[in-house]
Amino acid sequence: MVKEAFVKTILNKHKRRDVWFLDDYSLNPYQLCDFNCIYCYTRGSKYGENIRQRLVAKINAPTLLAKEMLKRAKRKEYGFIIISSATEPWMHIEEKYELTRKCLSVIAKFRFPVHCLTKSTLIQRDLDLLKEVDENAILPQDLSKLKHGVLITFSLSTIDDRIAKMFEPNAPKPKERLETLQKVKEDGFYAGVAYIPVLPFISDSDEQLEEMIKIAKEYQADYVFVGALTLYGIGKELYYKIIEKCFPELSLKYKQFFKTFNQPRKDYQLKLERKAREFCEKYRIRYRILG
Ligand code: SF4
Repeated sequence: MVKEAFVKTILNKHKRRDVWFLDDYSLNPYQLCDFNCIYCYTRGSKYGENIRQRLVAKINAPTLLAKEMLKRAKRKEYGFIIISSATEPWMHIEEKYELTRKCLSVIAKFRFPVHCLTKSTLIQRDLDLLKEVDENAILPQDLSKLKHGVLITFSLSTIDDRIAKMFEPNAPKPKERLETLQKVKEDGFYAGVAYIPVLPFISDSDEQLEEMIKIAKEYQADYVFVGALTLYGIGKELYYKIIEKCFPELSLKYKQFFKTFNQPRKDYQLKLERKAREFCEKYRIRYRILG
């Protein structure tokens, strides 16, 4: 069930550029997401339990975006727009609505750069428009060394199809995402992998981290970065239910791990990053987009 809605704003300007994703703006043509990942941070909102049943298509997104971008372009406020930060821009309903595609047309016209963050294979449909953006976008001066108007990051939490099905029930398989990565690389895009969130005790061992990075290299990723799992609200309850059902031996460990905070402890996060950097060096792949 998809609700069609008219929204009042569509292009969010951030106070500060995100240091990992390099975006100055975010654009979400939809609200919530039908890929239905158990760990999705949108579950922390009041809609948390039923993110598939409460999908919203912002049907005036392209026309509103054109108005908002006209103002930004006149003031030369160029910066990367992330599509998307709180939804999957190429989820299944995009085949019907084409809101992401129409928004990309607007972005191409105003020559802003984009960072595509996705788990979807459907992005391949829009490589023609993305190519136009890649070649013509005006980069913010301090990011001019990137030399690409498009960044494409595929997100993965595991490379094991069976585990992915438990935690990302409606998303394309990890292998399909990696094959799409290879395709966009062959088409000349700058692209990589965000291993976010790495799942504690499930996909976070040194061996798994190394394997993930090795495979990313095999599929020609330009960069990799990793991030730990955050759990809160209804998302935390749903995640614990999956753990109890599929990994009962980890149930207590998880409760202790997330007992005080919504995120793992700082030392865990630092170790994850240190290890990922080591493996990136070993496999000669950039850690983070700018390295
Ligand atoms: S694909 Fe992204 S936005 Fe969609 S449910 Fe998964 S984590 Fe959430």
